Amino acid sequence: MRTDQPQTIYLKDYQAPEYLIEETRLRFELHDDQTLVHAELRLQRNPTRGAGLPPLVLHGEELELLAVALDDQTLAAGDYQVEAGSLTLQPQGEAFVLKTSVRIHPESNTALEGLYVSGTMFCTQCEAEGFRKITYYLDRPDVMSVFTTTVEADRGKYPILLSNGNPVASGDAEGGRHWATWEDPFPKPAYLFALVAGDLRSVEDSYRTGSGRDVTLRIYVEPENIGKLQHAMDSLKKSMRWDEEVYGREYDLDIFMIVAVNDFNMGAMENKGLNIFNSSAVLASPRTATDAAHQRVEAIVAHEYFHNWSGNRVTCRDWFQLSLKEGFTVFRDAGFSSDMNSPTVKRIEDVAFLRTNQFAEDAGPMAHPVRPDHFIEISNFYTLTVYEKGAEVVRMLHTLLGPEGFRKGTDLYFERHDGQAVTCDDFIRALEDANGADFSQFKRWYSQSGTPRLAVSEQYDAAARTYRLTFRQSCPPTPGQPTKEPFVIPVQLGLLDGQGRDLPLRLEGESAAQGSDRVLSVTQAEQTFTFVDVPEQPLPSLLRGFSAPVKLSFPYSREQLTFLMQHDSDGFNRWDAGQQLAVQVLQGMIAGEPLDTRLVEALRSVAADDSLDPAMVAEMLSLPSEAYLVELAEQADPGAIHGARRQARRAIAESLRDVLWQRYRSAREASRATPYQASADHIARRSLQNAALGYLMLLEEPEARDAALEQFEDADNMTERLAALSALVNSGFEQEKAEVLARFFEEFKADPLVMDTWLSVQASSPLPGGLARVQALMQNPVFILKNPNKVRALIGAFANANLVNFHAEDGSGYRFLADQIITLNRLNPQIASRLLTPLTRWKKYGPARQALMRAELERILASGELSSDVYEVVSKSLA
Ligand SMILES: [Zn+2]
Repeated sequence: MRTDQPQTIYLKDYQAPEYLIEETRLRFELHDDQTLVHAELRLQRNPTRGAGLPPLVLHGEELELLAVALDDQTLAAGDYQVEAGSLTLQPQGEAFVLKTSVRIHPESNTALEGLYVSGTMFCTQCEAEGFRKITYYLDRPDVMSVFTTTVEADRGKYPILLSNGNPVASGDAEGGRHWATWEDPFPKPAYLFALVAGDLRSVEDSYRTGSGRDVTLRIYVEPENIGKLQHAMDSLKKSMRWDEEVYGREYDLDIFMIVAVNDFNMGAMENKGLNIFNSSAVLASPRTATDAAHQRVEAIVAHEYFHNWSGNRVTCRDWFQLSLKEGFTVFRDAGFSSDMNSPTVKRIEDVAFLRTNQFAEDAGPMAHPVRPDHFIEISNFYTLTVYEKGAEVVRMLHTLLGPEGFRKGTDLYFERHDGQAVTCDDFIRALEDANGADFSQFKRWYSQSGTPRLAVSEQYDAAARTYRLTFRQSCPPTPGQPTKEPFVIPVQLGLLDGQGRDLPLRLEGESAAQGSDRVLSVTQAEQTFTFVDVPEQPLPSLLRGFSAPVKLSFPYSREQLTFLMQHDSDGFNRWDAGQQLAVQVLQGMIAGEPLDTRLVEALRSVAADDSLDPAMVAEMLSLPSEAYLVELAEQADPGAIHGARRQARRAIAESLRDVLWQRYRSAREASRATPYQASADHIARRSLQNAALGYLMLLEEPEARDAALEQFEDADNMTERLAALSALVNSGFEQEKAEVLARFFEEFKADPLVMDTWLSVQASSPLPGGLARVQALMQNPVFILKNPNKVRALIGAFANANLVNFHAEDGSGYRFLADQIITLNRLNPQIASRLLTPLTRWKKYGPARQALMRAELERILASGELSSDVYEVVSKSLA
């Protein structure tokens, strides 16, 4: 907890460490009521920091120091200073050995940072600054050390003892205890340290690398989950192969381990050789996990594995560089998921998520550049901007260099910086050097916050057969950045003729056309491109594949958008044209216009199109989300947004009833005829089936109700069952709703992850009485406030995915959320801080809601001792 004024830390103040740690030897004695940590650190003066021996200042929090010795000389109390957060002592030579012993209490650690207990096991989460809660250390990523770790614990309770690297020795100890020693030969920063002890089961497999080395693969879980690991293991092997093929990166240790943990603040953590996962990101079986959950497991297993190179072998110099590893690795995992599934659908999902959530972050009080330049609490900067926008920035570099140029750049980056802690600038420099490119202007994407706007206008000259596109870029002010310099914006585009075919593209000054789909680099505030030899007035298809994270505007008519929906050769832009059309229509309805039936007719031809991938049909039938409509609004009216969207969906269901029934029945028939498979074509079929069911249930007719009940009863997989449950929960069939909720609970109450979905479905239902339902569910024994997954599933779903209930006019939703944040601030500051997001968006709403939301933020600020996590977000939101 914060005891004094929280300090802001600035990138410009970065200095290399005064001392380095060559070698780290740790010994853990784990007990039920305490843990002793003995550390032996071989340190030396950092030769780049000049002469003299300044004091050594080690990080350490919530540690009880038992002993300290310098070169085997025990120090007396006056030889060192212990303060909140640090241990300071005076070295006597350039190289020395420091030994410390501390006592810690993982058994009462509810922040889930450092060493803690989850269920019956001990585990760790050290990124970003959790290692300082384990022992005194130079807990910063530019201090890389070789670790040897011995773990000692009761043999009966903790038969499995794990740490990073390779196992080198083990044996028995007195009193029914045992120990194991692990050695990690690769130097790493402390944030990649991991330890696990527990009564765990594992599945084992092996992988032969491209160079012929055999690697043991093992995934550990608590005994009841042993049957839910095949998908994660398959995903791991695919990831290892993919990284060899696409990036030329092989795994380096003899063993790779994953451990699933129920209590975990994040998704997963890439600790060297010993990944620790939130169980929701690793467990999957057809009966208990949806298609989306299977795809999430595949993506997160890949993401953490890919970090072995982009993050571990080459790491970050300081935490301002977090996107160096995260933006790059999210880009890598997106490429993997795209190759394993449908690239267009993957891109649609990523862009919809980015535009809804990251754009909102960029427009709010916590807006920051991809490489932030200051922070109070680094845990608050594991953000959509650093991860998702960071990945978009890397994707633009890939677009500008092309796949081969990009690969040359990453090869040089890995070769040049292997074993080092580096910066985003080093990454860019490697790409530049490998390609003779100059990205000095492009680097503004790392330093300027906010979402750029790109307004496009056209001019066709029939006599001269020229077509001019003029781009005007601007970027709204963000905290600390009133003005911005122009970005480099790659715009992938095509020009469609009257039949919807791509025209050849020849720019003024070029001797011949260069394809019919190309990338223009917009680098100036205003810039015009002139195409020549254009035989007719074309229709531009702009920003294909969403080639840059910008808000593009072009004065398309509704007819033109309908035309693009039908004809664009770029699948992403076909979908996006439909979204733009739907946004126009819904915004009209919010302003009081009737539903424009052109949208309904456009969706009818999509729904009837057998040649389209069913997953694309499902995506195109989905109207823009409420959250996206909020993001686009100057001042959002939650009731009007929800009402317009619901009215449009109902009208679509009525008008498209026959084709929706036909697609539903044929898909459900196929699902019944074949056992569940998590393959791309089966996933696509189920997504269309469930989208159709969602529409048909809006008609509140017995026929749809019976179909939902049949699907709930008879389906052999969670994807179909949960969709049916959700459709019934959001319907007016009160008796059936109560029955299926009770049946689902009885069947799965022992499975925490399925209970998360049971809570979420109810918490996000827009039907009246949402807050009362959530409050009642908090009393259910399956809800545990100390478990982050449960908090996200119930409180998070209510605040983020239940627009009308959370924004109830009396402010009850805000008051409820603030109460939970005040409680969680003491238990788990990281989770409390994350829950604040919807309140930070207060400027989006009308004066009455603004006042209510601000009042709750002020109440949190005044509620007593705030963690630095919560303090930073609340104070910046009120500033
Ligand atoms: Zn990551």
